[in-house]
Amino acid sequence: MSASNPDPGTGVRAFVAPFAPPDETLAPALLASASRDAAAEARIDARARRLVESIRSHSGGLGGIEDFLHAYSLSTKEGLALMVLAETLLRVPDAATADRLIEDKLATGDWSKAHGSGALLVSASAWTLGITARVIHPGETPDGIVDSIVKRLGLPTVRVATRQAMRLLGSHFVLGQTIEEALSRAGSHREFRYSFDMLGEGARTAADATRYFKAYADAIAAIGGRAGNAALPARPGISVKLSALDPRYEAVSRERVLGELTRRVLELARQAKRHDLNFTVDAEEADRVELSLEVIGRVLPDPSLAGWDGFGLAVQSYQKRAGAVIGWLDDAAHALGRRLMVRLVKGAYWDTEVKRAQERGLADYPVFTRKPMTDLSYMACMRQLLRARPRLYPQFATHNALTVATVIEEAQGTKGAAEGYEFQRLHGMGEVLYEALLAEVSGAACRVYAPVGSHRDLLAYLVRRLLENGANSSFVAAAADPSVPIEDILKRPQAWIGDAAHARHPHIPLPRDLYRPARMNSSGVEFGDRVALNALMDEVKRAAPREAPAVPPVDPGAAMAAAAAAFPAWNATPVERRAGVLERAAELLEASRGILIALMQSEGGKTLDDALSELREAVDYCRYYAAEARRALVPQTMPGPTGESNELHYRGRGVFVCISPWNFPLAIFLGQVTAALAAGNAVVAKPAEQTPLIAAEAVRLLHQAGVPASALQFVQGDGKTGAVLVADPRVAGVAFTGSTEVGHAINRALAAKDGPIVPLIAETGGINAMIVDATALPEQLTDDVITSAFRSAGQRCSALRLLCVQEDVADRMIEMIAGAAKELSLGDPRDPATHVGPVIDDDAKQRLDRWIADKAGQGRVIFRWDAGRALPPRGRFVPPTIIALDRVSDLREEVFGPVLHVVRWRADEFDTLLDDIAGNGTGLTLGIHTRIDSVAEKIIVRLANGNVYVNRSMIGAVVGTQPFGGTGLSGTGPKAGGPNYLRRFATEQTVTINTASAGGNATLLSESE
Ligand SMILES: Cc1cc2nc3c(=O)[nH]c(=O)nc-3n(C[C@H](O)[C@H](O)[C@H](O)COP(=O)(O)OP(=O)(O)OC[C@H]3O[C@@H](n4cnc5c(N)ncnc54)[C@H](O)[C@@H]3O)c2cc1C
Repeated sequence: MSASNPDPGTGVRAFVAPFAPPDETLAPALLASASRDAAAEARIDARARRLVESIRSHSGGLGGIEDFLHAYSLSTKEGLALMVLAETLLRVPDAATADRLIEDKLATGDWSKAHGSGALLVSASAWTLGITARVIHPGETPDGIVDSIVKRLGLPTVRVATRQAMRLLGSHFVLGQTIEEALSRAGSHREFRYSFDMLGEGARTAADATRYFKAYADAIAAIGGRAGNAALPARPGISVKLSALDPRYEAVSRERVLGELTRRVLELARQAKRHDLNFTVDAEEADRVELSLEVIGRVLPDPSLAGWDGFGLAVQSYQKRAGAVIGWLDDAAHALGRRLMVRLVKGAYWDTEVKRAQERGLADYPVFTRKPMTDLSYMACMRQLLRARPRLYPQFATHNALTVATVIEEAQGTKGAAEGYEFQRLHGMGEVLYEALLAEVSGAACRVYAPVGSHRDLLAYLVRRLLENGANSSFVAAAADPSVPIEDILKRPQAWIGDAAHARHPHIPLPRDLYRPARMNSSGVEFGDRVALNALMDEVKRAAPREAPAVPPVDPGAAMAAAAAAFPAWNATPVERRAGVLERAAELLEASRGILIALMQSEGGKTLDDALSELREAVDYCRYYAAEARRALVPQTMPGPTGESNELHYRGRGVFVCISPWNFPLAIFLGQVTAALAAGNAVVAKPAEQTPLIAAEAVRLLHQAGVPASALQFVQGDGKTGAVLVADPRVAGVAFTGSTEVGHAINRALAAKDGPIVPLIAETGGINAMIVDATALPEQLTDDVITSAFRSAGQRCSALRLLCVQEDVADRMIEMIAGAAKELSLGDPRDPATHVGPVIDDDAKQRLDRWIADKAGQGRVIFRWDAGRALPPRGRFVPPTIIALDRVSDLREEVFGPVLHVVRWRADEFDTLLDDIAGNGTGLTLGIHTRIDSVAEKIIVRLANGNVYVNRSMIGAVVGTQPFGGTGLSGTGPKAGGPNYLRRFATEQTVTINTASAGGNATLLSESE
């Protein structure tokens, strides 16, 4: 079944809904449906008030998370430090790193705040954190606490105590470390139903996915064995994350997911059916919704599941498509003639969704941006679910007393009343709320979502909970804070919003407005939005030239002469007009995305993802340099004595030669050219000989945008042509991106010439390292390493070449990275499922193959993608490869391809490691993965790399956000896409005018007091 083609056999239709419609268009219906009569509102008020009061009256005594969040709000340094400590400490194996982490985090806060709290959780965890009455003496200041504890107790004791505190914090949210333990504990709380969740991050490797599958299967068997005799919905259940079952659970890997993942989900569902359990698929990120519904759409109609009412799905009301998802489930249940269970949540990834939409340059957000809109949407979904009974069994998962009271009010009078739905809460949260509720509403039911797993696996889950509940907007945080009046808590979402014009958060700009007022952001495409992805692919397919158009050769000398002749007029063109031309070029680039991406794919071997990112970068360059020209190149008034005006002017230098590489045939090419043009220069542009067609198209668009044909000359050719251009006496400046050797050659050629000294702006490569200590999160690291080392087949100057991992964690990290690399798909870059395309040419392939063979001969290759399977039959593919080296200094050259080198370091050799990295002389990108701020700071101070990335991937610098360029052997600077770039392309001229020359200083004399 495809998104546009419902399966006629099953009757389950395809899910289609706009991915991110504007908030304003959704608000009127949500607001209109929110009104109730006064009596109903009064009943909601009364119930919600009772519930909040009961939460507040219990707070402090029960040791709930509410007290904890109150003591350590995430808006405080302590709260944040604690979150990082909780997320990290238990996975750090070595004492030295653990101690450094503890010192780093405890030293940042005033831990005495929690002193005196009666809450068990607060005092116990704060306390083993170092502030119990046993340790702190009256009159001690917080600043001295960490030092004094350490002095008094010694670091080992503090370490043990802190680990204990983190375990305690963790155990609050975990029902059991094993499913048996969890089942036993659940058995003593018969008033609640349970849904068990097997903790863990999403799978990164096939082994992970198999392990999770087995854990789910075992858990289903164990739960089923003790499920009792009640009928559904009063039976226990299991919650499953699809991301745990497939290491490439992503929209572009659709075919693979629909095969493998569907099989796994179906198998688990069958097992759950055998015990008549509730089997719920958790809701994850917005870009996975369509895919998950496609998987579910294939699982549900399977005849083996007929007659079972336990299959369920979580739906997030913060998503603008929530109502459409419920509609789809309702139709599916109808078509299949059975009931589905639907857990309605607000959504746990709000911050991630907002960031992703901004990064991806989407037209709008897939989630609401104001919390009351999420609440309004929750209400609308709730009504939709209640109406859809009995086809759907609603499960309202929330800890918000107002939400709970509203559900009860709305459900009353509907068929089934309290028996026709259940509430859900997370283990460790909402106890008081639901105990009070069960006591006052007869027939009400509540299911506890109960995480099961080791403390180590808890971390990501715990942080999510701390984050969502620690936020000021969260109900739990407000309920925990006695200074927030109950009236505020009870204020209805429709009252907060008012009207549709206020549906949107005033301080969260649309992704395209992120850089306003200076410029517009480039627009991207959400690959998880099938309609958008198909539209893009259609455009690319339609535009793909069947035959490569010829680009007429231009003689370098003639091009230089023509550009020199064109220079004065272009230089005299006002900055504003030049900027306008570049902005027009940005529009044309976006409008021509089909042909540009097609060319990048056919000529440069770019995957769809890479080609789109590159197009966006090119668009950003045009707009950024336009904005920069307006800011940095307009005359500046200089201070001086009266009777005189002083102005600093910027003007073009003359003819700039721009020589760019094949690896970013559009973005780097246009980056150089547009900067030179913005500054008033005429340009002779020579792209790499491998990628002339893309460059020719870019030049055509610039001409169409209004750059005079003569002011931008396009010359094709190899290095010899470049050398001819550089040697030309008319050259006023050179912008070059490429290898260090060619950079040196250009520098020498320019230096050998008589005449004006010509500036060279060079960006060259680097032996880019990433330093990883034992506090790094393996899954996050794995994602970032795979992206940094293998995306674009490693053919980015920013790509990770040398991974330096602390020995204590190296085995596990490298195993996970290799396992994830194995899941990469190599193939035709035009297929969106391809992660790694071919390398650029035969030379590159031979060089890389030789390198790998040489290292294999030394027994150093620890992973190669093609071990046990063949590379794609056609095309110049190099297998992603991991090579173990003994020391950093063993890598002396930039290996420009999908080859990752790994070095292990010992905690006591950290300084030597940094010296060795500095020793290779390059200084382009640097990655750091650590949770210890002081470690990151130390690395940043010691290594002068141009672009440093902490706890993220180290590629994909964004124009105007991460100005790009290196130091040392990696380039001259200034950085491309940065605030100092344009002026390097300009000359300066001060103009001083004696305004008193005509007899006197009229301005001064007429100055009034
Ligand atoms: C039993 C159970 C199961 C769950 N399963 C899932 C699941 O499968 N998938 C999942 O994603 N979540 C899940 N959650 C988490 C849930 O989505 C909520 O994050 C959490 O319950 C907080 O919502 P609330 O109603 O309790 O609190 P409230 O404080 O009323 O709501 C907080 C929520 O509002 C939303 N929000 C916050 N700020 C904004 C803003 N500026 N604009 C728009 N919205 C905003 C966020 O979603 C936030 O979590 C589950 C929760 C429970 C209780």
